[in-house]
Amino acid sequence: MDYEGFFKERIGGLKSEGRYRVFADLERHAGDFPRATRYDGDATRDVTVWCSNDYLAMGQHPDVTAAMKTAVDRCGAGAGGTRNISGTNHYHVLLERELADLHGKQAGLLFTSGYVSNWAALGTLASGLPNCVVLSDALNHASMIEGIRHSRAEKRIFAHNDPDDLARQLADIDPGRPKLVAFESVYSMDGDIAPIAEICEVAERYNAMTYLDEVHAVGLYGPNGAGIADREGVAHRLTVIEGTLGKAFGVMGGYIAASDALCDFVRSYASGFIFTTSLPPAIAAGALASVQHVRTAHALRAQQRDRVEQVRRRLAAAGLPHLDNPSHIVPVMVRDAKQCKAISDRLLGRYGIYVQPINYPTVPRGAERLRLTPSPLHSDADIDALVEALATVWAELGVQCAA
Ligand SMILES: *Cc1c(COP(=O)(O)O)cnc(C)c1O
Repeated sequence: MDYEGFFKERIGGLKSEGRYRVFADLERHAGDFPRATRYDGDATRDVTVWCSNDYLAMGQHPDVTAAMKTAVDRCGAGAGGTRNISGTNHYHVLLERELADLHGKQAGLLFTSGYVSNWAALGTLASGLPNCVVLSDALNHASMIEGIRHSRAEKRIFAHNDPDDLARQLADIDPGRPKLVAFESVYSMDGDIAPIAEICEVAERYNAMTYLDEVHAVGLYGPNGAGIADREGVAHRLTVIEGTLGKAFGVMGGYIAASDALCDFVRSYASGFIFTTSLPPAIAAGALASVQHVRTAHALRAQQRDRVEQVRRRLAAAGLPHLDNPSHIVPVMVRDAKQCKAISDRLLGRYGIYVQPINYPTVPRGAERLRLTPSPLHSDADIDALVEALATVWAELGVQCAA
């Protein structure tokens, strides 16, 4: 076997389809969100970032960076162990309490990322519950899919955001078997929102557990940034709420919030929780400061909503096709991988505007897009520059697409 030749050939395939991933080499400017320096070989250029998941710019909030610096000075760089073997730092304990309180649950459990939290928690619940069936929304995130696959439990996929299909499938399953319904609140690519109350209703009827990924909602929705379930007054009906500390909270890490017994079960049986060094104390301290700040940051959330509205209005006025949805995610549809990449390259190279193209397998083929995430700190001038550049490039490249 020619190993090197194999790798190169497979990469060549991605390139010819126009979906080879090129990372923008960035140095973000703390205190000057959404600006960054982009490194391109020996050249550098200042760019405006339009695709960050640091939705509220909390990654550079002075409370957060100060908390991290203090924690480094007090505790050093790393945690020094797994949670079980000397690596539980007091900041982890405080953060888990804060997250439980945020979601109105008895307990919180931290993981090194949102990906790991989904993989480990779903994998452990679905493999630990004897003869469990997992009902998984058709558009669930890769981390949930991998966790369910890893559990080797039986999996049934229900139609996206469709409580009726879920009910039909649940009716089909032996009432004695444990059942786990896994879904998201805000779907990250289309920005649509699940009918959480209806899904809970169906799950309750069939005595199924519910697991809700609120990764793209925590910090942003609900009166205190606890997510969509809290906004809809149904957080207490969900068995597990999962979130990230890496998106609206601007730092890193993932978590679940649930009952004492469930969190204790996952803590005690999940390989992906047990056998890995815990988050650095400074990360936990920064995340804690961020969650505490965001819970009362009503003006920041209002400002983000205002910026999102403004971007949508300006895109519509310029005739640029974007998906209409009830969230902060603005997908500008291109529907062609090569064209999507070409638009992104031109925006970056000519205008210093950075929006990463989103191609298969992140979205289906034919659904390629630019995913804009307006923050509270994108100015009117930033929005004008974006829409003007996009309209020019759109015309130059002759993009033919309706949302
Ligand atoms: C980003 C994402 C995750 C993973 O969270 P990280 O903290 O980035 O690992 C989980 N679920 C969804 C829906 C996501 O978009």
